[in-house]
Amino acid sequence: MDIGFPLTVDAIRNNIQRVHENIDKAARRVGRSIDEVKLVVVTKTHPVETVRMAIEAGAKYLGENYAEEGVEKKTLLSDQTGIEWHMIGHIQSRKARMIAEHYDFVHSLDSVKLANRLSNFSIEINRTIPVLLECNVSGEESKFGFPIWEENGWESVIPEIEKIISLPGILISGLMTMAPYFDDGELARPIFKKLKRFQAYLIRKFPKTDWHELSMGMSGDYEAAVQEGATIIRVGQAILGYRKYC
Ligand SMILES: *Cc1c(COP(=O)(O)O)cnc(C)c1O
Repeated sequence: MDIGFPLTVDAIRNNIQRVHENIDKAARRVGRSIDEVKLVVVTKTHPVETVRMAIEAGAKYLGENYAEEGVEKKTLLSDQTGIEWHMIGHIQSRKARMIAEHYDFVHSLDSVKLANRLSNFSIEINRTIPVLLECNVSGEESKFGFPIWEENGWESVIPEIEKIISLPGILISGLMTMAPYFDDGELARPIFKKLKRFQAYLIRKFPKTDWHELSMGMSGDYEAAVQEGATIIRVGQAILGYRKYC
């Protein structure tokens, strides 16, 4: 990734444009359309000035990992309209109220406990919060999410998912995963295929629930993800340059 510094609105716009072109190419190769893929620009760790530039460059969906950090930026950018704030990082249950109040979409719902709290707080403020169930597809210990790496163990997560479906304050709309880091994004492809198969499994088990969203693919592997059916990709570094930490 050759990202020019200092970061300017034009540089960000060019990077977004390039990612769009790559999504388009990847989608066409498998008979999909770029219109089926939403681009979340991951702004975690970037200062609010950078986020403002990203919005000016055309970013509509912003992804944040830390509850407070996102809320702080959202508050400072309250003059901006039409922006959706997506929580993509692990959520501690004590942050559930903040998430229910401030975020438009949650990618990282990973437990019944968190689901209960999000549902309760959402009901309190009269909303239904859309969520994705985060899945740990690779089995890496550092990853959060429902453990689905063993296909013959899928049955065992069904009771938890059943409970989450029954909660009135949250609305499931699909699944999310994070592939392990590989130098070659192609190597993440089996992870995306497995999440797609798990989606098909859930559609059979719970046909009345909406499972259509698949949030998968990041800077290094989003093209493979798009080819494997991603409807949402979460891209940070390919648009905003390297982060100091993450
Ligand atoms: C940081 C992060 C991303 C974006 O990663 P990049 O390599 O910067 O594209 C996507 N998803 C999650 C959950 C993240 O934490």
